[in-house]
Amino acid sequence: MPELPEVETVRRSLEPHMVGSRVVEVEARAVKLREGIRPADWHRRLLGTRVTALERRGKYLIAKGERAAALFHLGMSGRMVLRRPAEPRAPHTHLVLRFDHGIEVRFIDPRRFGVAVVLDLDRLDAHPGLARLGPDPLGGDVEGALQAAGRSRSPIRSVLLDQTVLAGIGNIYANEALSRAGISPLRRASAIAPRRVRALAEAIRAVLTEALEAGGTTLRDGGFVSAEGDGGYFAVKLEVYGRAGEPCLRCGGTIVRRALTGRSVFYCPRCQR
Ligand SMILES: [Zn+2]
Repeated sequence: MPELPEVETVRRSLEPHMVGSRVVEVEARAVKLREGIRPADWHRRLLGTRVTALERRGKYLIAKGERAAALFHLGMSGRMVLRRPAEPRAPHTHLVLRFDHGIEVRFIDPRRFGVAVVLDLDRLDAHPGLARLGPDPLGGDVEGALQAAGRSRSPIRSVLLDQTVLAGIGNIYANEALSRAGISPLRRASAIAPRRVRALAEAIRAVLTEALEAGGTTLRDGGFVSAEGDGGYFAVKLEVYGRAGEPCLRCGGTIVRRALTGRSVFYCPRCQR
């Protein structure tokens, strides 16, 4: 599932091709995603529009136009790719935006947990996905956000996945940041000392920054690619995620996997308390 570094990687690869360019053709299939796609909306409100900005908020991408904005979320398996019109379309291509320079942006989502909707500019901030987003871990006050959530009796991993606390963290980087900070993903948020909260804030920023520099994480089963089709290289630096049964890189003990609200946690029980 694409998280902040992957979505930001996609944003950076799309930006030079979208911002300042005009949408001259729209092909939209009426598919049921988590949200979207209503073809009439795309034709009526996005066709002919020049994109003025491509922004990221948490895991959402927002292409702002002159009259309306397109809001995207890649869900579990979504991709946004740049292609020439003659290039064959991947299965599950639900939306194609052709720009005045001839390149297409295609939205592909096999598992259909994504979002691709058109919104009025003045309705954007009220969208349920955006309205309650917490600060961005790369620019915002991570420590303050964690302190504010510090009375929660939920396991810290669940707090990190809560997009209203911090926007953009998913299961891979939550597990990795907790590993670096030496904190068990199962520990209650309210039972973490302030000194360790500070260490966790630092670990979150570091792991996301490094992953972004590596172009995101592409796991062995494939999945994430940038808009230009490149995989990311952060997977080689994962300390715990996906490494159940393998030795801990710090102590040589065994990384374990547990289920927690349907999403796995990976950790070293010796190094993470
Ligand atoms: Zn260990």
